[in-house]
Amino acid sequence: MKIASQHAWKDNEYTPRHDWPGDTLVQWGGSGVVLGKNPYTTAFFEAFPDKSISTAGGFIRGEGATIEDAEASAFAKYTKQNECRHLWGREHYRNSGQLCRHCRAFRCDQVKEVVILGRHRKPLEWYHAYDLEMDSDSKYIRIMRLRAKLFGITELDASPPAPVSMEGSE
Ligand SMILES: [Zn+2]
Repeated sequence: MKIASQHAWKDNEYTPRHDWPGDTLVQWGGSGVVLGKNPYTTAFFEAFPDKSISTAGGFIRGEGATIEDAEASAFAKYTKQNECRHLWGREHYRNSGQLCRHCRAFRCDQVKEVVILGRHRKPLEWYHAYDLEMDSDSKYIRIMRLRAKLFGITELDASPPAPVSMEGSE
């Protein structure tokens, strides 16, 4: 197991409970923002399994009320994916991303991407800013760093909720 370098100072009171094999890179946090219709914060644990010894997906994320719960969830996914005979499909991905139809493992080394010209010529989404701190030289991270440098990072939309109309105020 390799622990992401930011944990030398960030969320460094946590120690992984599971034995992540080989060079699997792990990182965690107590307040990840999860997007969707109703964004919420949660503890999360993320792993980038060592491809030389694992058939699990390239990226695994667990969530929970505590980092320990999140790690347990991530490790359960890792175990399930590692035991699967994968059936890959492109689904909604147009990059080299593939999802297994059985276990939902994610990998991006199974097919060539569908190239859309100019797709990186835009600001980085704010929710990827955390990824820039990762100690990784992957193409994915390098493209995000370039986008942040050349086009900036979008701002978290913190606009207040729409005002409630006052009854009888007209
Ligand atoms: Zn699978």
